[in-house]
Amino acid sequence: MKKHKILLARILLPAFFILLFLAAICQQYGRQKTEQPLSLTSFKLNTVVRVTLYDSSDQEILERAMDICEEYEDIFSRTKESSELFRLNHQELPKDKEGFYSLSKPLAQVIEAGLTYAELSDGAFDITIAPVSSLWDFTSSENSLPEPEDIQAALSLVDYKNVSLSGSRLRFEKEGMQLDLGAAAKGYIADQIKEYLLSQGVTSALIDLGGNVLCVGSHPDGTPFETGIQKPFSDRGEQILTLGVENKSVVTSGVYERCFEKDGILYHHILNPRTGYPYDNGLLSVTIISDSSLDGDCLSTACFSLGLEKGMELVNSLPDIQAVFITEDGQFHLSDGFEESVTVVSKKS
Ligand code: ADP
Ligand code: MG
Repeated sequence: MKKHKILLARILLPAFFILLFLAAICQQYGRQKTEQPLSLTSFKLNTVVRVTLYDSSDQEILERAMDICEEYEDIFSRTKESSELFRLNHQELPKDKEGFYSLSKPLAQVIEAGLTYAELSDGAFDITIAPVSSLWDFTSSENSLPEPEDIQAALSLVDYKNVSLSGSRLRFEKEGMQLDLGAAAKGYIADQIKEYLLSQGVTSALIDLGGNVLCVGSHPDGTPFETGIQKPFSDRGEQILTLGVENKSVVTSGVYERCFEKDGILYHHILNPRTGYPYDNGLLSVTIISDSSLDGDCLSTACFSLGLEKGMELVNSLPDIQAVFITEDGQFHLSDGFEESVTVVSKKS
């Protein structure tokens, strides 16, 4: 009798609890391995937005993520008449007696980043491009060019040095100046969605704002997310390079995103603030891999604007930033130390 009790207490009971523990682990592992990712796609911010959760099945989180996009569209849109940026650009915000506008924190933050990258690129990237960019229409099928006189007049208003920003107070030093945050806002919004997902306990997700990708963690089993760099002008999906990424932003600026052809010339949406016409510098696209998507978004456009040599120099001077430049001959160019810090899953040259 006593022997049986000892057997029960010393061997069977612990064995039972160990088995129970192992079963729980297996169940958890199995659930993570087989659970379908939950995803929501919607047209927001003038593009296709897709958020995918890999370790949560809470639909409400996805819906809130889409609401976040809309809330920021109400701040950053250059064309929506009720947005804070539109009102700033059209002198509809209250001004103090020194001529300063008081901006919301998100707007001030994105403008600050924009001004930093304008400085770093010596004005090749310039968020005061709005008077020029609003003359171009890359979305309609008309393919019409702005009048050269209009471009000349608009260019006189473009110079980031004429924006004074102090905290969240902003003053334009020239009347009629306007800002275009099209090269930066999506990055900021992606970062904010990531913060929100983390606050909800999501640790494995993909945020894709029209090809601007921000990874939250990795797949639940620890394998990195795979993201491809498109071969410009090839069918969507054909990839020149596939990267394995964890917790990184991968943002591309390319000539093929918004463009039209007229009389054999390709006109695309990244404009030279010195001429008012699209850059023609032999580049097809620049992809930036960074921690912050705001940095990545600004830098992809800034490096495109700088061209291969100076753009690569800028990337190589910054810590924790990697880049892929694709030139018109179809070749890709990697920043220093690329393959030591980014996993290249496959390459096509
Ligand atoms: P996408 O909108 O495809 O993500 P980008 O991030 O490269 O592309 O941003 C391009 C947008 O940036 C343009 O549509 C325009 O709004 C704005 N832009 C164009 N030229 C410049 C420039 N030289 N400096 C700053 N912003 C620019
Ligand atoms: Mg950009």
